[in-house]
Amino acid sequence: MNTFKQKTDFIREIIRNDLKENDGGQYKIHTRFPPEPNGYLHIGHAKAICLNFGLAREFGGLCNLRFDDTNPTKEEMEYVNSIKQDIKWLGFDWEGREYYASDYFEKLYGFALALIKKGKAYVCDLSGQQIREYRGTLTIPGKNSPYRERPIEENLMLFEEMKNGKYPDGAKVLRAKIDMKSPNLNMRDPVMYRILHKKHHRTSGKWCIYPTYDWAHGQSDSIEGITHSICTLEFENHRPLYDWFLNELEIHHPRQIEFARLNLTYTVMSKRILLELVKSKIVKGWDDPRLPTISGMRRRGYSPTSIRNFCAEVGIAKADSTVAIEFLEHFVREDLNKKAPRRMAVINPLKLIIDNYPDNIVEELEAVNNPEDLSAGTRKIPFSKILYIEKDDFMQEPPPKFFRLAPGREVRLRYAYFVKCNEIIKDRDGNITEIHCSYDPLTKGGDAPDGRKVKATLHWVSAGHAVSFEARIYEKLFKNENPYQVQEVGELKDNLNPDSLSIIENCMGEPSLSSVEPGHVYQFERLGYFCVDPGCSNDSIIFNRTATLKDEWAKIQKSQ
Ligand code: ATP
Ligand code: MG
Repeated sequence: MNTFKQKTDFIREIIRNDLKENDGGQYKIHTRFPPEPNGYLHIGHAKAICLNFGLAREFGGLCNLRFDDTNPTKEEMEYVNSIKQDIKWLGFDWEGREYYASDYFEKLYGFALALIKKGKAYVCDLSGQQIREYRGTLTIPGKNSPYRERPIEENLMLFEEMKNGKYPDGAKVLRAKIDMKSPNLNMRDPVMYRILHKKHHRTSGKWCIYPTYDWAHGQSDSIEGITHSICTLEFENHRPLYDWFLNELEIHHPRQIEFARLNLTYTVMSKRILLELVKSKIVKGWDDPRLPTISGMRRRGYSPTSIRNFCAEVGIAKADSTVAIEFLEHFVREDLNKKAPRRMAVINPLKLIIDNYPDNIVEELEAVNNPEDLSAGTRKIPFSKILYIEKDDFMQEPPPKFFRLAPGREVRLRYAYFVKCNEIIKDRDGNITEIHCSYDPLTKGGDAPDGRKVKATLHWVSAGHAVSFEARIYEKLFKNENPYQVQEVGELKDNLNPDSLSIIENCMGEPSLSSVEPGHVYQFERLGYFCVDPGCSNDSIIFNRTATLKDEWAKIQKSQ
């Protein structure tokens, strides 16, 4: 599993110091990954997963999985299950420590009572709109709520009534009593509970008041004994609030550390926008291979190793930045190049007939499964008189730099023979339907005994033995390099790449592709990596193109 060397970073330095300071004791670091089950995980979450679970593994600690399920209107079991599946697939294990913020609703309620009793929280009747107005702005200080000085006894009574369902949604909230003039807006008497008569996916109808994320998050970490609460930068100015709650409650105080989110070019990671793409059927579900979701990347053929290697190499920083999508693809190719068995397949078949090859003979030629891994062995592929080659590999009138097949020209067929094109057959519309060649029997295996050379080697399949399949070719979902900066869904739609998916039917593959397993990735020689789609059946095989063979990252690096 630890196939890569983890670089160090400021979080690892902090942890090393904390371990040193606690040297000799029972001290163990304890982290957690805290997703909100309101969508599927994406590559940004993968970074947080690799970090939190990775730290626990590296430093001999523990990492919990905790669902931050404080919002019953957006959360579903489908998301809980997909999140668990994705974390496991990435290669991490919470070892049974699967927790839910909703498990702590009772405790949190008790904590809230404690704050009310200390005079540090109050029930407020202002509407949401009024609360926003009273809060002020960065330049205008906030105003105290008229309900701020309610006596403790009244607060206790009203809060209990809120809990017992006496009031409709929005009628009252519980707020922390901190400082309406604080320069930090998060400290201006933030809301801790709101009334929501809504069933929760776990607690069902038990509660009609729900804690806000800000109120639940830090206390949940504390309850679990988390030592290092690692979160993304946008929570930096929530930290004083989390500190305030923990100090007032006098409970275990985890250390919060913020790091920069992962942003990728051409990629949107906001769950709100991903959900919109799914709901409006712009993509075919959360696992559409064009999405940066973990399930989408899995379906596309990205390996867990490549995603982990990518996250390790991107590293952890304190300042926001955007990583080129080609960098991720580089790790996908690097891993697949080592592991993916090679096969021959033709995406746009053109019939090639070898006129001087015997009619009824089939030769079994030996092909290497993976030149990067000779232990993968060899296989036999049938060769016969009628073959398919790639349409693009033939041109009737080739321009100067086209070295593949053309009238009168000789090329090599991979693992087979030299063939020379003698004749072209066209249909009534002028489309080329067949090309006729002759082969040189002395070139078997791909070399001419007289030393003559050819400038191209083509892939092919034997027509009588070929397996037909559907190929789905994916391009970027967005045209804009920075779609993550777009906040409006409408704006995003203008940015969609109309060619992000092409479906090509009647592709032809070598016979070994007749029995394939969903999720397996092959390298189709000269074409790219292709992954067997889970939607396959025995008589309909579908391949998703994982990546082309060209490493665009190398090009970007050179140009920098
Ligand atoms: P939303 O899209 O609703 O703002 P979120 O991206 O914060 O949600 P959560 O489910 O709350 O999603 O995220 C779980 C954890 O993953 C959090 O700790 C969060 O910091 C981390 N995380 C989310 N997105 C990224 C990202 N792009 N890069 C790194 N970590 C991320
Ligand atoms: Mg979040």
